[in-house]
Amino acid sequence: MTRLWGLLRPHRKQLVIVVLISLVGAAAALAQPLLVRQVLAAVTSGSAVAGTLLLLVAVLLAAAVLSGLQQFLLQRAAEGVVLATRRTLVDRLLRLPVAELESRRLGDLISRVGADTTLLKAVVTSGLVDLVSGLVVAVGAVVLMGLIDPLLLGVTLVSMAVGIGGVLAFSRRIRELSRQSQEAVGTLTAAIERALGAVRTIRAAQAETRESEVMSASSRAAYDAGLRVAKVSAVVQPLSGVAVQVAFLAVLGIGGARVASGAISVADLVAFVLYLFLFIQPVAQSVQAYTAIQTGLGSLARIDEVIDLPSESDDEAGLRRPGTGPTPSGEVPLLSFEGVDFDYPGGVAVLRGVDLAVYRGQRVALVGPSGAGKSTILALAERFYQPTAGIIRLDGVDVRELPRSLVRARLGYVEQDAPVLAGTLRENLLLGAPDADEPALHRVLAAVNLTGLVSRAPLGLDSQVGDDGVLLSGGERQRLAIARVLLTAPSLLLLDEPTASLDARNEAALSAAVDAVAADRSVLIVAHRLSTVVSADLIVVLDQGEVVGAGRHDELVAGNALYRELATTQMLA
Ligand code: ATP
Repeated sequence: MTRLWGLLRPHRKQLVIVVLISLVGAAAALAQPLLVRQVLAAVTSGSAVAGTLLLLVAVLLAAAVLSGLQQFLLQRAAEGVVLATRRTLVDRLLRLPVAELESRRLGDLISRVGADTTLLKAVVTSGLVDLVSGLVVAVGAVVLMGLIDPLLLGVTLVSMAVGIGGVLAFSRRIRELSRQSQEAVGTLTAAIERALGAVRTIRAAQAETRESEVMSASSRAAYDAGLRVAKVSAVVQPLSGVAVQVAFLAVLGIGGARVASGAISVADLVAFVLYLFLFIQPVAQSVQAYTAIQTGLGSLARIDEVIDLPSESDDEAGLRRPGTGPTPSGEVPLLSFEGVDFDYPGGVAVLRGVDLAVYRGQRVALVGPSGAGKSTILALAERFYQPTAGIIRLDGVDVRELPRSLVRARLGYVEQDAPVLAGTLRENLLLGAPDADEPALHRVLAAVNLTGLVSRAPLGLDSQVGDDGVLLSGGERQRLAIARVLLTAPSLLLLDEPTASLDARNEAALSAAVDAVAADRSVLIVAHRLSTVVSADLIVVLDQGEVVGAGRHDELVAGNALYRELATTQMLA
């Protein structure tokens, strides 16, 4: 509830206005039975009714206008709450540590941004304010009913108290059930994301039916959770209905007897019954509001779970104050790894005592069998993870002493898979350098030999690349990603060569692009191709997370058995 209040606080002015309007509305509603009683009394006694009737109509109209205004302000506040929550959530998601994101299902996170935030809206619209204004009308109605006939009021309250008590007891369960229902929707979204993200593989494996069954099971879980909510509601709703009917019948029966005995007038009984209606409506609304709040709180818990996760920040444990580590002597490499160990979260040991240095203007290639830890070295340089031991230095400075933003600005990282995002060629290029001008875009495209692709496309730079760049070939994707990082003019390029074999033309184009960009830059490249390694200034051979050799191609062929084997059997020529 404290969190909920935090979300509502920015809208408190609007909400105060809404509450004031609903108080006026409540007063107008409470005045109506009194006016009706006056009209009835006037009709019975034969005196003039026009004035009171006119007042009654005016009160009705004013109540309708105020109610419209109240609804609008309420919806606006509710949309505002959803907007603020989505913004915070999306911002947090984009800044979560990579390891945290990898441990979660993407679809579930997406459903928290979409479905769960939507449920928050109901907390404001049909929740809190209804509860406040409903309370005012109910209390007002009780007071006025008490003034008309305390005995009838006693009868009403006793018969309704039983029903309301039962309703509240059941509503508590709704929050937990609703949370379960949203969890199931999250699982379903994750299953869809998984299947649609690999649609070709699923079709090729003819796994549509099996995947559909997985989703059907998640849908079924959402259905079951919904059904459990429905069961509780099925008890709650009739229970409140019965309480209302019992109160109504009791008032009519006992009230009729009291009119017959002359204790109250017919006009009094009519006014009392009208107040009873006024009392019932907010009570029923409050029950719904309570349910809506419980449902919303279930979703809020799921939203907060993500918002409360620590984001990737520079002041996390391990950040050093500048100058506390030993500084290297001699010529300072651009990037260096010194005795770096690394285990992935969950304890998978990957790197052991890795020493590595890339000097200015050098092209260093990392080679090794699949799973040796090559891509992990690039990920550590980008500070996606923290080494378990050892130091990584950029220009001689321990990277833990530098803000992540600065480290990433100096490095140009091209990951191995899906380095292209849905959108246009232009959007992809501008990702890291949003202010780059047109000539700069064409310059980097020319550097990676993609000018032809752009000039062939009818929309040029504004052509769509498809989800994950599916409309481009593997080699084109990689070259576009290289062009993108070139725009940011990094001091060091970190390239993760695609493992997939490319056709001869794409292969040659990629090699030419790498050669062209490496000519006047420092590059650390995870290499899977002989053509990439032969021209490298230094080749570092990695095996099971350890550096087992370093040198130039000829030296390694002569002196390193693993390299010789890789070069002759595994590397793509
Ligand atoms: P390849 O040549 O096949 O791309 P690689 O040498 O680049 O392989 P890495 O991707 O660095 O190898 O992976 C090294 C090891 O770390 C592998 O055994 C892999 O299973 C594991 N690994 C990689 N990424 C993760 C991750 N995000 N979480 C946990 N373990 C991982």
